[in-house]
Amino acid sequence: MAIRKIREIGDDILRKKSKPVKENSKKIQDLIEDMLDTMYEANGVGLAAPQVGILKRIVVMDVGDGPIVMINPEILEVSGEQTGDEGCLSVPGKSGVVTRPDYVKAKALDADFNEYIIEGEELLARCICHETDHLDGILYVDKVDGNLREATFEGEE
Ligand code: ZN
Repeated sequence: MAIRKIREIGDDILRKKSKPVKENSKKIQDLIEDMLDTMYEANGVGLAAPQVGILKRIVVMDVGDGPIVMINPEILEVSGEQTGDEGCLSVPGKSGVVTRPDYVKAKALDADFNEYIIEGEELLARCICHETDHLDGILYVDKVDGNLREATFEGEE
């Protein structure tokens, strides 16, 4: 287990599209462990593999109910709308207002490579969208309404 360096905005890797994970391996399991450690160490609620410099479709999240791992996530359904503050571990010290769906249903593989369905509302829905965007090289700053501000809250993704 190790803390990995979080890439910050301006780093080209954050703008690249990540590749699907084809098979489980020790390397993938180590990456997932490290991503969780790195996210918790940084007091984040979500982290995507490209944020630690790995272009693979892996996301970890914890919105307060324990760790969630999503490998090759695919959003199946969205509905509603929420507008609120968002931050990102790759854009340190900043936050901005982003409108996202209020409900998201997605499918993904868990850390054991079993497919499951995840449904989220509010913060979890926001987090699923934010992290899945990272896998396509999209940052929340692309979607922000107005200007970025100095962050005054915790819970960065
Ligand atoms: Zn982020």
